Amino acid sequence: MYDVVISGAGPAGSKCAEVVARAGFKVALIEKDVNWRKPCGGGIPSAKIYEQYPDIEEQGFHKIQGLAMYSDDYHKIDYFSDNVTTSSLTVDRLAFDNYVRDMAVKAGAELFDKNFAHDFVYSNNKIAGVKTKTPSGEKIYQGKIVIIADGMSSRLAVRSGLRGKWTPENLGISRVEILEGPHKLDEKYVYFFFKRYGYCWIFCLGDNRFNIGSIVYGDSNLQYNANKTFEQFMQDAPLKELLPEEDYKVIWAGNFPEPARGVLEKSLYGDSLMIIGDAAGFVAPINGEGIQPGITSGQVAGEVAVKALKQNDCSSKTLKEYKYHPRIKKMIRKYKFQSKFVEFFYENNGENLNKIFKQAENDEKFRRIAIDIFIYGKTPPKDFISFVKSLK
Ligand SMILES: Cc1cc2nc3c(=O)[nH]c(=O)nc-3n(C[C@H](O)[C@H](O)[C@H](O)COP(=O)(O)OP(=O)(O)OC[C@H]3O[C@@H](n4cnc5c(N)ncnc54)[C@H](O)[C@@H]3O)c2cc1C
Repeated sequence: MYDVVISGAGPAGSKCAEVVARAGFKVALIEKDVNWRKPCGGGIPSAKIYEQYPDIEEQGFHKIQGLAMYSDDYHKIDYFSDNVTTSSLTVDRLAFDNYVRDMAVKAGAELFDKNFAHDFVYSNNKIAGVKTKTPSGEKIYQGKIVIIADGMSSRLAVRSGLRGKWTPENLGISRVEILEGPHKLDEKYVYFFFKRYGYCWIFCLGDNRFNIGSIVYGDSNLQYNANKTFEQFMQDAPLKELLPEEDYKVIWAGNFPEPARGVLEKSLYGDSLMIIGDAAGFVAPINGEGIQPGITSGQVAGEVAVKALKQNDCSSKTLKEYKYHPRIKKMIRKYKFQSKFVEFFYENNGENLNKIFKQAENDEKFRRIAIDIFIYGKTPPKDFISFVKSLK
């Protein structure tokens, strides 16, 4: 019997496990495969990560100081910061996920690898644990609280009845590869290429290695295929200048979807149950950032679980504090807003994006606003939309 059973040891589940275990409670952290590398850009632009993992600097993750963004018609926004102490990171997800899992284990959580969570355990018609499939047969983990952190394609989230399955219009669908070889990229930079269907990226990882991908957003999924957009991107003439080799060594490749419309705020909690991270839509609609938001959702859910356990009341009445926590409310609000902006950006085949980039090339103040929107997910000034509409 555990106090908390967490399905999924990605960034969200691992942080949640760490918080609950550190408070002295018994945690089962269930993972289908610790050797799985999550298909992801691995960009962490938020300085908050340094607070959430104070020793992250010592892990040797690649530091990023610069950003180059291109519109579909190749207007360019360039940004470089001298501040290296809280600079953005790019991480290999295999290394990063095992680091955050280690932190949970060090805090006292028990990690169960090769456990595929497929159903709940019920007691008196209430969720009371998780059933898993393992190489040695089915296992049962009982807990006072169950936390669903097993990502985008979570079976448990759907089985809980709190939410349904995603439809393509609500997703970003991607192709992502880690490649290695001689290139002309600046390794202190990340590169974004906005397209009419979504965007492509190159995130340098150092040592001639880079993460490259293409993501098709929302309604465009009905029209475009992520693999084809990736292949086209690799043939783009300006890209060829940055990546001149015919062949790059493929270190790893994969496809994966991500939630594209923000947090599913009606689906965050139930009796003895909370949903965190990707499974609940904690991904910024503007730039697809979900690592740090997932960690934050895990941290808050962990704090709420600790409080519920101390009060000996794990009902929805107590767990609703998770949804109404100021940090969660802030993200819900911000992503709703971003979702509207994304629609505006991609109107008329991305025409507004092209105008924004063109304007930013010659207007320093506007350029800073654009960087804050796309990279740091900040809210633009009130007159932003009308100003962009007025541009030729
Ligand atoms: C192509 C792509 C690029 C992205 N790029 C970025 C980026 O550059 N920066 C950024 O911040 N975000 C990015 N994201 C989003 C980011 O990957 C996620 O938001 C983040 O990983 C969410 O963390 P999580 O812990 O909620 O879920 P996940 O990272 O998906 O972790 C879920 C964990 O649960 C495990 N699991 C799954 N099913 C089961 C099961 N049935 N039983 C047991 N365990 C299970 C998985 O193995 C995994 O360890 C990207 C996403 C995609 C798809």
